[in-house]
Amino acid sequence: MAKLDSKVPKGPIKDKWTTYKDKIDLVNPANKRHIDIIVVGTGLAGGSAAATLAELGYNVKAFAYQDSPRRAHSIAAQGGINASKNYMGDGDSNYRLFYDTVKGGDYRSREANVYRLAEVSGNIIDQCVAQGVPFARDYGGLLDNRSFGGVLVSRTFYAKGQTGQQLLLGCYSAMNRQIARGKIEMFNRHEMLDVVKVDGKARGIIARDLISGKIERHSAHAVVIATGGYGNVYFLSTNAMGSNATAAWKIHKKGAFFANPCFTQIHPTCIPRSGDYQSKLTLMSESLRNDGRIWVPAKLEDAKAIQEGRLKPTELAEDDRDYYLERRYPAFGNLVPRDVASRAAKERCDAGYGVNATGEAVYLDFAAAFQRYGKEQAKIKGIKDASKEEIIKLGQEIIEEKYGNLFQMYEKIIAENPYETPMMIYPATHYTMGGVWVDYNLMTTVEGLYCIGEANFSDHGANRLGASALMQGLADGYFVLPYTIGDYLSDDIRTGEISTDTKEFDEVEKEVKDKIDFFINNKGTKTVDHFHKRLGKVMWDKVGMSRNEKDLKEAMAEIKAIREEFWKDVMVPGNASEMNPELEKAGRVADFLELGELFAKDALVRNESCGGHFREESVELDGEQKGEAKRNDKDYAFVSAWEYKGEPADAVLHKEELEFKDIELKQRSYK
Ligand SMILES: Cc1cc2nc3c(=O)[nH]c(=O)nc-3n(C[C@H](O)[C@H](O)[C@H](O)COP(=O)(O)OP(=O)(O)OC[C@H]3O[C@@H](n4cnc5c(N)ncnc54)[C@H](O)[C@@H]3O)c2cc1C
Repeated sequence: MAKLDSKVPKGPIKDKWTTYKDKIDLVNPANKRHIDIIVVGTGLAGGSAAATLAELGYNVKAFAYQDSPRRAHSIAAQGGINASKNYMGDGDSNYRLFYDTVKGGDYRSREANVYRLAEVSGNIIDQCVAQGVPFARDYGGLLDNRSFGGVLVSRTFYAKGQTGQQLLLGCYSAMNRQIARGKIEMFNRHEMLDVVKVDGKARGIIARDLISGKIERHSAHAVVIATGGYGNVYFLSTNAMGSNATAAWKIHKKGAFFANPCFTQIHPTCIPRSGDYQSKLTLMSESLRNDGRIWVPAKLEDAKAIQEGRLKPTELAEDDRDYYLERRYPAFGNLVPRDVASRAAKERCDAGYGVNATGEAVYLDFAAAFQRYGKEQAKIKGIKDASKEEIIKLGQEIIEEKYGNLFQMYEKIIAENPYETPMMIYPATHYTMGGVWVDYNLMTTVEGLYCIGEANFSDHGANRLGASALMQGLADGYFVLPYTIGDYLSDDIRTGEISTDTKEFDEVEKEVKDKIDFFINNKGTKTVDHFHKRLGKVMWDKVGMSRNEKDLKEAMAEIKAIREEFWKDVMVPGNASEMNPELEKAGRVADFLELGELFAKDALVRNESCGGHFREESVELDGEQKGEAKRNDKDYAFVSAWEYKGEPADAVLHKEELEFKDIELKQRSYK
């Protein structure tokens, strides 16, 4: 059995990373030329890693299933990226970013990793500015910041509502430089279908060329998985439709432990679901909570009238509205962390106060911001006695400058003008804090196999703060992995090229081909989506925002039953030697059907409420926190790392006990 050793360096937290870097083994430049690294995934995490490793002199083979790294899901990131630069002079520091991240994650992350993340966060901004990323600037030309949920400072750097896109273009240009030099060999439209181990070490992958269907072998001295999160296990999520868990799940089956699978983030500000035929949900950036106020009607009869279309939200008097976040959490108000905001919305909607036809929506209202900004603008522009209409128009112009593209997107989808009527929002699956377990070096429990970005179990504990995923992915790729992987590869300078003509590659390739042949020849009666939707419904209903023992046990049994039916009755049209999106989906959903069950099992074992994981059995019963989530540090201050043993129900739990030496464990209070 693999031993769970986090390999956190000794010494004070502030010095760990520096001392580590001072002491690790390095690979000399001439030797780097003889070392190959496979990077699977070229979103922000994989793209930044590939570019940096190639810049250092390694030979990189990079893989992505899209037709270009520019299409990775990272492009969708809207709101921004955190860094503790303290440009606003509001008291930020590395320690505060570290503290906020550990607290925001409800004390379920590894302190040393989070401190390192905060430490390198400033470098990311410098690196991206040097690449030409057009971050927003203030009136003096300096980089601007805004605030995100769960913190009391403004540390989020942004490029309108398109931060991920701009960061990805910067990263892609860094990659392109290396592609042109021949240091990165880019395999677009290639899907990794398994990893190959030789003598216990990751030495290659089996990939399918998605255009020709050809199965290929690729070898390397180390393999890096940067394949993103598994939110699509819920079928409906804000993730790109192609986002999947196959690479992460396949390495899990080959020995990489899977950590905290039940830690999922349900984002509070998404466009509500409209019906049964929807295949995708859309995020409204969290940045909108800076200026929008969240409310539902205070009286049930008003909520009912709104649901039935008899009353408009703009007709409801201030006193008849319940700004429930401001009421319950006066200190943080609308800027409470995502898990808290999501649960509060669900609580109001479950109680009947929802504001759309399905009763699953709350308002995000900018009317007060129009007034506030409008009055300020009237003063700045010297307009005396501005009319109410003039003030609103001036305020709307400011909001348009800040979030115009998001308002436009909302109007296109909902066909309502959010400048005139409040937006409707509802929580949706958005991000997965769980993922492949990695040590301080970002290495999995398989030697030479690394995992970075959203695909690993990350630094966000049980709940990620807004704008911290981009920070983590780019920290991993630009500033952490390039050091830690060198330490490992320094032992490989005499190994020489890894052959693909070996029994290990034969065996894994055969497994991959057999599975593809099975799908093509099964001739079942139901589509892949049929099963994926059913899985998603079980996940949302029983392993969603609120969980209990009975539901979780049922979910495990139901997912197993869906999986068995899938293998008997799935229908995949077309054949294997052509572009076949249904075949691609079949493999991915097969993996989701296993991961979903482990997810429920992990949630069942963790009988405490923490972060995004709310157990109905673990709630504060008295005092100021009555009704809030109750964490249990005595029994659950650990990372659960699951070892694959065949059926997901048989997975074996290993615990990485978490030590908190630099932060006092406290109950999270945003009141
Ligand atoms: C709508 C939305 C908005 C967001 N906004 C923000 C924000 O403002 N700030 C923030 O910090 N975070 C945000 N996030 C989260 C953040 O965008 C993601 O966590 C982050 O971009 C993930 O980056 P990644 O590189 O780990 O993975 P991805 O960007 O998902 O990239 C995965 C890569 O892996 C490849 N891949 C996957 N499987 C395989 C395989 N089997 N074989 C080959 N290639 C494979 C894909 O082709 C792709 O290149 C947002 C998320 C969403 C959904």
